[in-house]
Amino acid sequence: MTTNKKRAYNFNAGPAAIPLSVLENAQSELTDFQGTGMSIMELSHRSNDYEAVHNAAIERLTKLYNIPENYEILFLQGGASTQFATIPMNFLTPDTEANYVMTGSWSEKAIKEANLFGKTRITASSESDQYRYIPTVSQTDIDKNAAYVHITTNNTIYGTQWQTFPELNDVPLIADMSSDIMSKPINIEQFDIIYAGAQKNLGPSGITVVIIKKDLLEKGNTNIPTMFQYKTHAKANSLYNTPPTFGIYMLGEVLKWIEEQGGLEAVAKNNEEKAALLYNVIDESDGFYVGHAEKESRSLMNITFRLQDESLEVQFLDEAKEAGFVGLNGHRSVGGCRASTYNAVPYETCKALSEFMISFMKRNK
Ligand SMILES: *Cc1c(COP(=O)(O)O)cnc(C)c1O
Repeated sequence: MTTNKKRAYNFNAGPAAIPLSVLENAQSELTDFQGTGMSIMELSHRSNDYEAVHNAAIERLTKLYNIPENYEILFLQGGASTQFATIPMNFLTPDTEANYVMTGSWSEKAIKEANLFGKTRITASSESDQYRYIPTVSQTDIDKNAAYVHITTNNTIYGTQWQTFPELNDVPLIADMSSDIMSKPINIEQFDIIYAGAQKNLGPSGITVVIIKKDLLEKGNTNIPTMFQYKTHAKANSLYNTPPTFGIYMLGEVLKWIEEQGGLEAVAKNNEEKAALLYNVIDESDGFYVGHAEKESRSLMNITFRLQDESLEVQFLDEAKEAGFVGLNGHRSVGGCRASTYNAVPYETCKALSEFMISFMKRNK
């Protein structure tokens, strides 16, 4: 079944590549989910058949990420962008301040929402250097009484990624992991909230995964609409209202695929090898290709670069498109080129791009 399928070299930033085996399996059970005579999309979210899918996805996430019992896993809607507001709504009180580390446009969007609900402070920022690096954050930079510290672990647009995370003792650490969730093993206990839209590394758009420490969850504001309280969803196992059932099913299938790859360590190793293919071409190009991010802050998920001769950039992108590469344009806010190499982008796809980049360089140097 896998032969003769035309599959693009997909470097889209999100929604992004999904493993072919996951898509094929979903296709095979699209009209009859496990003998029910119904699509997964047609099942009641209160049925045992659906609940098994829902709980299996939570279990897989727990196992793969080694999530301790004092955390809750939630499947919400509205994307990571809704979390930008939900977090301050729940945890920013009038007598506290939220600390934000600014590493790109997503951090900017996050703090903008928090400013609607209370006081914020920028702890560190690389804005003045076009967000080329991840600033260091030490405990002394953080208000001891801060409501929380917010970071963006991978900066999808600028191509930078935190390599180690700040240790904050008692101040909760909240992380937008939309573009590098489950790309490598992490220690969950360093975080109080992790959130991510699923459409980059975990499946289709429509679900937001939230991993939240229970003692923080308990402190959530109850004077806000029911749907915006984390407690509502925690109490109901994310079944307070109708969840995005098809997306959760797909998420579960992607997690199963990660298990089949050998888990997060294997996935991380593959991601490192994929990124190395492209960074090596950039680094060995004698300045023909210029990486945007500083080396120590480089992302394994989004590889951002320009052509030194910017007049060649349009030609590069046109020829790449012609050769079957999809999604290589940089984000509309920064231009240039970007290859997003999320978990589901195969090594061979990255290899093909690295070869294309070398051959383009040879032809145009
Ligand atoms: C894509 C992205 C978002 C926005 O996610 P939505 O689900 O579209 O709201 C937020 N943060 C980061 C880091 C992203 O990459």
